[in-house]
Amino acid sequence: ITPVPSDIAISRAQKPKKITRIAQELGLLERELEPYGHFKAKVDTKAIIERLDEQVEGSTEDNGHYVLVAGITPTPLGEGKSTTTMGLTQALGAHLGYNAIANVRQPSMGPTFGVKGGAAGGGYSQVIPMDEFNMHLTGDIHAISAAQNLLCAAVDTRMFHESTSKSISGFYKRLVPAKKGVRSFTPSMAKRLEKLGINKSNPDELTEEEVVQFAKLDIDPNSITIKRVVDCNDRFVREITVGEGKNEASKFPPRKSGMDITVASELMAILALSTSLKDLRQRVGKVVVGTQRETGVAITAEDIGCAGAITALLKDAIKPNLMQTLEGTPVFVHAGPFANISIGASSVIADKIALKLTSPSNPINSGKKGFVVTEAGFDFTMGGERFFNIKCRNSGFKPDTVVLVATSRALKLHGGAPDVKPGQALPKEYVTENLEFLSKGCANLRKQISNIKQYNVPVVVAINQFETDTDAELKLIQEEAIKAGANFAVPSNHWAQGGAGAFELAKSVVKAVKTEEASQPLKFLYDVNSSVEDKILTIAQQMYGAADIELSPLAKQQIETYTRQGYDKLPICIAKTQYSLSHDPSLKGVPTGFTVPIREVRCSAGAGYLYALAAEIMTIPGLPTHAGFMNVEVNDDGEIEGLF
Ligand code: ADP
Repeated sequence: ITPVPSDIAISRAQKPKKITRIAQELGLLERELEPYGHFKAKVDTKAIIERLDEQVEGSTEDNGHYVLVAGITPTPLGEGKSTTTMGLTQALGAHLGYNAIANVRQPSMGPTFGVKGGAAGGGYSQVIPMDEFNMHLTGDIHAISAAQNLLCAAVDTRMFHESTSKSISGFYKRLVPAKKGVRSFTPSMAKRLEKLGINKSNPDELTEEEVVQFAKLDIDPNSITIKRVVDCNDRFVREITVGEGKNEASKFPPRKSGMDITVASELMAILALSTSLKDLRQRVGKVVVGTQRETGVAITAEDIGCAGAITALLKDAIKPNLMQTLEGTPVFVHAGPFANISIGASSVIADKIALKLTSPSNPINSGKKGFVVTEAGFDFTMGGERFFNIKCRNSGFKPDTVVLVATSRALKLHGGAPDVKPGQALPKEYVTENLEFLSKGCANLRKQISNIKQYNVPVVVAINQFETDTDAELKLIQEEAIKAGANFAVPSNHWAQGGAGAFELAKSVVKAVKTEEASQPLKFLYDVNSSVEDKILTIAQQMYGAADIELSPLAKQQIETYTRQGYDKLPICIAKTQYSLSHDPSLKGVPTGFTVPIREVRCSAGAGYLYALAAEIMTIPGLPTHAGFMNVEVNDDGEIEGLF
């Protein structure tokens, strides 16, 4: 329909298939599916993988084609990565007849009710029902909130009980009480004993010294690194004081803390990076909550005795959620780590299962390899770089091609056209032909193409077509992309036309995954065993085009601490702006000669990476004056209106 209706109107006008039918079309068995209502279901990863591995012996390694959708340096309006992910999958699945699955993140309700809106894609390329996708889904984010808040409560309460106990032996007796006259260690306590090298199972047999070693965590309140979380852009909890109640404050000093948005928590990053439930349990145990006052030793969720309970709260969240595109092809929605300080990609588990389901050995595919299309948040220097160096290093998968989404509007911005702002009309340079700005701005596209090529993968440039783009503009981008080394470059009109609009794009992807480059091994950007400083420098120079990096005294000290604690051999996630190749959002095009300042380095030991802050990063956004929530209503039939 022209003009294209609103996203929610399109979503609502399409009657979704029952989720049981989507599952049937994927060849899932009834016992592998856990429906949540009619249009969403969780899937039992373990059962599916075991069945498919068993069905075709020796085929555990043959997977479907793996396609990563990434972006050039965007405008604040978003250049259509999610929309392209959906459009491409619709084209591959509903138009070219492949078994094609889209794997995307679950959106946080913070941005949904704040500035950016949801993340279901847009126009005729969306996940549906988009209201269910954008709110609650099957409760995974809520489960993460519950788990993270349990951990925080456990840490504060532990410090309180420990410090208000008269003696450590008295505390130990209460920590390991007798039940029906018998004292025993819980499984999590046994894990702590094992870590300490105390080989005893009877609590009464610990020596006094061992009791102290075991029970006295003595966490320095100033060292606490974890925060309570909420899935809402609530700027008023950025800084809070905890422990003000009279029963607590009279015995233990209140502590300054703050809250993060749930998706910024380490537990969310863990959900995205875990390869199995067992792996998740181990990672949760490694989450560092703070350090021991005297020794500086890192205290973990395992030491607090909370890792088992956290895993219990996440045991359903670890199962990917099955939904569908507007054209009835399958979509896995799973995990939603913040793109600022985490990987900004959907989960390893969802990829693993989708790659299995699209493998030629899945009987429903009759020997034909399908496609898994997934997305990396922000631009390629951020989401893409982390996808390869953190996520792929962890999963062992290599994308067969990268689809780089480019728009004329972002390229014009890089070529010197005036700034664009959300909620304001686009300046005329963007809605009329302007080959001059566009041609200059293609420098950004060239740099991003060469960035991707460093990983040994073919590149397909998807020019996400806007209504006002002229033929000459589309042709110019296409030519520049090919000149810069892209294997293919095509305009794609999936926003206005759905899968049919992405037909040429899908055909290019089918060709790209068969190129020689696609079968080459993945080339990581850096060796994880090199020093933290070298790793940061390599990313800054090779991806951003920086001359150098500058570590603040605090960052240097943190690197020293992590190196001493043995956390230095982890990959690095650099938090910077996505609006420039550099750390400075005002530097458009392809800036050179700049030095990236590293203010702080932090550790996500459970998720398995260090993150370096090259900018002040907000870990809980705020709501604007006119916020998304103000548009939302529910009509008398219970249908949601105004969700963009
Ligand atoms: P990203 O994933 O890169 O942030 P999205 O796919 O979420 O971007 O798209 C951002 C917004 O732009 C969405 O509201 C989407 O509907 C809209 N959009 C995307 N592509 C087009 C297009 N070709 N024409 C018009 N609007 C578009």
